[in-house]
Amino acid sequence: MQGEKILITGGAGFIGSHLCKKLLSKENKIFCLDNFYTGSRQNIKPFLNNPNFQLLEKDIIEIFEIEADYIFNLACPASPPHYQKDSIKTMKTSILGIYNLLDIVEKNNARLLQASTSEIYGSPLENPQKESYWGNVNPIGVRSCYDEGKRCAESILVDFYRQKKSDIKIVRIFNTYGPNMAINDGRVISNFIVQALKNENITVYGDGKQTRSFCYIDDLVEGLIKTMESNNFIGPVNIGNPNEMTVLELAELIISLTNSKSKIVHQELPQDDPTNRKPDISLAKLKLKWEPKVDIIEGLEKTIRYFKELTL
Ligand code: NAD
Ligand code: UDP
Repeated sequence: MQGEKILITGGAGFIGSHLCKKLLSKENKIFCLDNFYTGSRQNIKPFLNNPNFQLLEKDIIEIFEIEADYIFNLACPASPPHYQKDSIKTMKTSILGIYNLLDIVEKNNARLLQASTSEIYGSPLENPQKESYWGNVNPIGVRSCYDEGKRCAESILVDFYRQKKSDIKIVRIFNTYGPNMAINDGRVISNFIVQALKNENITVYGDGKQTRSFCYIDDLVEGLIKTMESNNFIGPVNIGNPNEMTVLELAELIISLTNSKSKIVHQELPQDDPTNRKPDISLAKLKLKWEPKVDIIEGLEKTIRYFKELTL
């Protein structure tokens, strides 16, 4: 992608700010739309003087007009404590937001990529998860505002594709981490690193035997751009790192990489916390020639350096 007009919703968030940076480096014109619910001005500060960067302080649930050729829809709180804080708003963000963006797609003949999620699979009964798996989601649980919102957005997008031939792409993002995560984000990697750097207790929820597979941000951004650039392929496609580990193993690794004096303590497991998660990425390898390159130690070391600067 070079010299294009690109709208990035949620552009001041963790993933959005990395995508802005990458696409600005290729001389694209970036419209970064954000309501700053979880995003931060600090994340986009380096771009504010770039003539190719324009900040639109807006909410995607309100109707708006813009001329763009490509849209990355990342707007949605992604951390469980944040998306559960105002669950009604979270659902509106996924549903009303996607209708508003599809209007822009129609008016501009634009292409839209939706940041969907591994939460589509809920607490999966299959491991690893392939795109063909329909999932195991509690439709009325505390996570459903996010899970069902993202599932419904996928459904709306595919109907627009079938009925109106809208140019859409769906990426199911698995747990991603890296610099620019908010210090109070509440997700596991940022929590553990901040706790370890402060020598505070590391809060493992439940017995810590639940698994996740963590992808470094640079790999994810490459996967998002490759999907957007692909032709005759709408997805859904899993983008993530299949390197599965338990939450307890992650806690021990972070303690060791930070030389921390922190002790592990166990806290109550949140309701409907998925027991396991690991992407099958054969489709991404086949269709996008994409696979992650950054291993967990290298990725954690970069992320620890970032949080060290914030916490010292
Ligand atoms: P984030 O919370 O850092 O970023 C989300 C951004 O969207 C924030 O800047 C926030 O202010 C903005 N936003 C939220 N609601 C909005 C609204 N109604 N209107 C305008 N802006 C709004 O989270 P992230 O990790 O960067 O996630 C970005 C996207 O990727 C989300 O859609 C999330 O569901 C998806 N995703 C992320 C992960 C991950 O591991 N990081 C995994 C799966 C899916
Ligand atoms: N978790 C934890 N301690 C924390 C934060 C999270 O043990 O301080 C666990 C959480 O219960 C889940 C896993 O880490 O099993 C990943 O949580 P996160 O909120 O990062 O993302 P999720 O994959 O659950 O959306």
